[in-house]
Amino acid sequence: MSQSQTAVIIPAAGSGERLGVGIPKALVEIAGLTLIERAAQSISSVATTIVIAAPPGYEENFRTIFANAHLSAEVVVVTGGATRSQSVARALAALPVTTKYVLIHDAARAFAPTELAQSTIAQLESGERAVVPALDVIDTIKVVDERGYVLDTPDRNSLRAVQTPQGFTFDVITAAHASGADATDDAALVALLGVPVKIIPGSPLARKITTFDDLTWAQELAV
Ligand code: C5P
Repeated sequence: MSQSQTAVIIPAAGSGERLGVGIPKALVEIAGLTLIERAAQSISSVATTIVIAAPPGYEENFRTIFANAHLSAEVVVVTGGATRSQSVARALAALPVTTKYVLIHDAARAFAPTELAQSTIAQLESGERAVVPALDVIDTIKVVDERGYVLDTPDRNSLRAVQTPQGFTFDVITAAHASGADATDDAALVALLGVPVKIIPGSPLARKITTFDDLTWAQELAV
């Protein structure tokens, strides 16, 4: 049973500047529940340990929330870093040595369904070492230079918008973070090692809550 060998990391140390609410985004409440509680609750059934990277100075707020949340998984709170990659690296260092599979899930994707985590783990169990849920891209995407002029138009059919939870074997994700390199997702660091990254179908519910519009979407979903 993979639950006993699976750990979840939730990087939640972002400031939420783009949301403009004046508190860390993970502590924003939607219909009475914070984003971090929602993210942890919906993924907790697949793992025995959840390590959360909290914004520096908010560790005790997070510990208090989870002391009262009664999740089936044990929750460990660590201090997040200056970048998302640093937050993940700090959380990795706190994982149990028995961990075989690691799911890394953004607190900001608080409405991702449990099934997405289950599908990711199923791929790891069948031998994949890096698994990423993603959606097809609807818009045409341009590569631009720093002055705002178009350099390239990649073929839309070969583009995917990636989400979390992203799943990795423990060895692969540990090696990927060993260099201390920075990237906006973990799969980018794994790809640098030459490890194949498998894309699986994502979910519109795993939308990243970043802007005020995203917050409105979440509030409508939660009522
Ligand atoms: O900034 P971005 O939207 O890419 O953040 C994605 C996730 O990474 C969020 O859940 C955020 O809380 C987390 N993060 C972090 N540490 C940082 C920056 C972001 O854990 N220093």
